[in-house]
Amino acid sequence: MNCNFCERRCALSEKQNGFCRMYEIKDGVQRERFPHRWSVYDLAHIESMPFYHVYPGSRSFSVGTEGCNFACGYCMNSYIARENPDEIQQSSCEMKPKEFIRMAQKLGCHNIVFNINEPTVSLFTLQEVAWEAKNAGMPMGCLSNGYQTPEGVELMTEIFSFVNISMKGLKDTFAQKTLGIPGFGPVLRNIALFAARVHLEVTTPIVENENDDEIQQMADFLASVDREIPWHVFRLQPDYKMIDSRYPNVQSINEQLTSCRKRLPYIYFHNFIGSEWVNTYCPHCGRMVVERISLGCGGDTLDHSCLQGNRCPACGTTLKFVGEEVEWNAKERFL
Ligand code: SF4
Repeated sequence: MNCNFCERRCALSEKQNGFCRMYEIKDGVQRERFPHRWSVYDLAHIESMPFYHVYPGSRSFSVGTEGCNFACGYCMNSYIARENPDEIQQSSCEMKPKEFIRMAQKLGCHNIVFNINEPTVSLFTLQEVAWEAKNAGMPMGCLSNGYQTPEGVELMTEIFSFVNISMKGLKDTFAQKTLGIPGFGPVLRNIALFAARVHLEVTTPIVENENDDEIQQMADFLASVDREIPWHVFRLQPDYKMIDSRYPNVQSINEQLTSCRKRLPYIYFHNFIGSEWVNTYCPHCGRMVVERISLGCGGDTLDHSCLQGNRCPACGTTLKFVGEEVEWNAKERFL
């Protein structure tokens, strides 16, 4: 029997757990090997995920399980995503859906964001959590590499109402050498599928001499899907097998993004101190409508929003945001 959640479509059996090592066959049915086990749960600003255009200022229950269907050479969470999930069980905890939601509520969270490893490897658990979250009125979002099958996308969009897909590049050679997949075709297809069904933001880590020559093409692709997709660009954080890589040059990325902004009004460039690319400007009149603070390491927070019902206070243009600033959370700042 094959798993049809991601494009690897692994053959599973009672002894064969697939590339991610998170699924198995038991009594003729596909099951998760470690259901309802969480490697991480924490609080975070939704902006730090990053999500900039959904529930601004809100407090998120940030969670993850184990395992991944990619093998990225620069993975920042390799201790969870690439380690043997059997061994991580010693340090993970079990929370069934009702308890999980109670914990999120107790911590004052407005929403849940799965952002530590790849959600595709824990879909049965996340589906059960989503049923409880729906009853509790708590929206769910995730970060994903976007490598699902169309069936996997279907299930993901039933679980998550906001998604951030990592568009890591376009070249097959880069996909094969650095990520361990044949190419980016499924990811590009799924960006269009998610954009049509849920709130979508996209993230790209720039790796010098690998994908920094594709910035214009990536912008063209996103603009062809929906020019209002928020696009978060990061410099590579050297880590894991690429710990000796260089931080890409800020100036050169700045120049390229400046020309891309004509096609994509919501481009953000994070993770360097002093970035002015973390604010939102009205695409019509240029007024700054949302100001954010970037600490240079991805821990972004909302400073203030002057949107009025998601409209620019200067010219009245409606901007693409889901939900307005979550007031109670904006007053109760935490770092
Ligand atoms: S989710 Fe895991 S088991 Fe399923 S196809 Fe992908 S890598 Fe294989």
